[in-house]
Amino acid sequence: WKNAPNDLGVLLDLSRTHGARLFTILDDDRISFEANWRAAAALAHALQDMGVGKGDRVAFAMRNLPEWPMVFFAITTIGAIAVPLNAWWTGAELAYGIRDSGAKVVIVDGERIERLRDHREELDGVARWIVARGGADEDAAALEDIVGAPASWATLPDIARPVVAIDPDDEATIFYTSGTTGNPKGALGTHRNLMSNILSGGFSAARSFLRRGEAIPDPQPRTTLTVIPMFHVTACSASLMGSMAAGNTTIFMRKWDVVQAMEIIAREKVNVTGGVPTIAWQLIEHPDRANYDLSSIEAIAYGGAPSAPELVKRIYEEFGALPGNGWGMTETMATVTSHSSEDYLNRPTSAGPAVAVADLEIRDDDGVTVLPTGTVGELWARGPMIVKGYWNKPEATAETFVDGWVRTGDLARLDDEGFVYIVDRAKDMVLRGGENIYSSEVENALYEHPAVTDCAIIGIPHRTLGEEPAAVVHLAPGMSASEGELQDWVRARLAAFKVPVAVHFVADTLPRNANGKILKKDLKALFADRAS
Ligand code: ATP
Ligand code: MG
Repeated sequence: WKNAPNDLGVLLDLSRTHGARLFTILDDDRISFEANWRAAAALAHALQDMGVGKGDRVAFAMRNLPEWPMVFFAITTIGAIAVPLNAWWTGAELAYGIRDSGAKVVIVDGERIERLRDHREELDGVARWIVARGGADEDAAALEDIVGAPASWATLPDIARPVVAIDPDDEATIFYTSGTTGNPKGALGTHRNLMSNILSGGFSAARSFLRRGEAIPDPQPRTTLTVIPMFHVTACSASLMGSMAAGNTTIFMRKWDVVQAMEIIAREKVNVTGGVPTIAWQLIEHPDRANYDLSSIEAIAYGGAPSAPELVKRIYEEFGALPGNGWGMTETMATVTSHSSEDYLNRPTSAGPAVAVADLEIRDDDGVTVLPTGTVGELWARGPMIVKGYWNKPEATAETFVDGWVRTGDLARLDDEGFVYIVDRAKDMVLRGGENIYSSEVENALYEHPAVTDCAIIGIPHRTLGEEPAAVVHLAPGMSASEGELQDWVRARLAAFKVPVAVHFVADTLPRNANGKILKKDLKALFADRAS
C-alpha cells in the first residue's frame, strides 16, 4: 500500500474548518480561512487548466501579500513544485531563479513584473505569466481576472478542490538559501519535509513545558505579526503552516516599520511576533514604546541568525513575554532546534535542543568522527525535515547531504542535556596565525557593553598571521564608546588574541539580508585601506 494522501491538501482542508476566522490581514484586506480555501481551490483549477501538473515548477515572487499562501497551496496541492523567489532580488536575480528552476508559470506582483521587464525575452521557457496587484502587462494574465480581488474571495463558488495523489516524498518546494556565504542554492523539499515540520513545531513547545513540570497552556487561537518575508522557509513552514493548523491569524506588513508594528500590535492585540532578532531589538529599544499598549504580546520568537544573549532577559523583563529561538537552515525546511521560555532564560546562548524527530551530532573536520560532548566542531543534522538536495547542483548536493545527514557548515557544541550552542559559521571563523577566533564569542562580549546594540566581527587580511579580527559596531542612540574602550572591554573578558585590532563605528545598524543576517562579506571593504 502506498501512502499518497496529499497531506498539504489535508492541511488546507483542515484550515477551512476555521471558517470565518481571519487567516491573514494586510492593511484593509482581511481574509478568512474560508476565503483563502476558495481562492486556493480556484487557482489550483486554473493552473491545471494551464497544463501545470505533477513536478512542474511554478515560480512566484511578491511581497507578503494574502495572495502568497493562496498561490503556495494552489501549486503544492496539485503536485506541482512551488518556487518562492526572494522578492528582494533584482530583475537579473529573479530571472536567474526562474531560469534555474525551469518554471513553466510565473506569478509576480506589479513591482516585480517591472523589475523583470528587461529580462522577459530571455525567459522563453515560461509558458504563462500571471501578475498580481497592479502592473498592467499585456503579456501577463491578471491574477484578479482568474480568482478575483482578495475582498471577493469569500464569495467565489464553492467548488471541489482538485484532488491529486501525492506521495510524501514527492517534491513540493524549491526554497532558495539566503545567499549569505555565496550564491543562493535551491533546496528541493518534499511534502514529508513540510509536514514533519508542522507536527514537530507544536510538539516541541509542549515538550518544553513538560520538561519543566509546567502545565501545557490551553491552545487558544493566537494572532501573529509576521514580518519576515514568506519566501524564507521559516516564515512559510514554521509560522504560516503552523498557524493554518492551529487557526491562528497572521498579520502581514508591506514593509517592516517599528512604529507601524507597535500600532498594529496595539490595535489587533497581537500575541506573537519576532522572526529575526533585530525586530525584537527595535521593539525593545524604541523610545516611544510606552505610548503603545503592547501588553497582548505573549511570546517573541526568532531564529535564523545569531542573537545577543542579553535579548532573552530583556524580552522577559521588559515585555513580560516569553522569548523563543530556533536553529535551522533552508536545507532543513526550517526548524531543527526549538528553544523557549525558562529553558531559554537559563541558557541564553543556546539555540535549544533538537525537535523530537531530529538528531544532531558534532563531527570533526573529516566529516566522520563524532566529537565528545562539549567539544566544538561542525554540526550535522538528520531527520524527516532534511531536504532531498539542491536543485540542479549534483556536486554541492553530494558534499552537503551524506547518508541522510546534512552537513551544516555551522560550528557548534552540544551540552550533556542536548542543548546546542551555535558558535560560528565555519566560513566566518577568523583564523589568526593558527588560532581559531569564533566571531560570535567576541560579538557576545561586545554586546555586553551597554553602548553596543549591533556589531559584527570579521576577519581582515594580515600579511603574516593570515587574518586578524576587526569589529564593526553601531552604538545605541545617545551613548558613546571609543575604539580603545571597546578593545579594553573585550580584553577584560577574552584572551588577548581575540581582541579586535580595529573598531569601525557605523551610524546605522549593520547591513542585513532579507532574513536578518549581517552581510559580513560586504563589511570587509570598510577596512580596505588598513595596511597590515
Ligand atoms: P547561504 O547558505 O546561501 O550562504 P544562509 O546559510 O544564510 O545562506 P539560510 O538557510 O537562510 O541561508 O540560513 C541558515 C543559516 O542561518 C545556518 O546555517 C546558521 O548559520 C544560521 N542560523 C540559523 N538559525 C540560527 C540560530 N538560531 N542561531 C544562530 N545562527 C542561526
Ligand atoms: Mg547556508
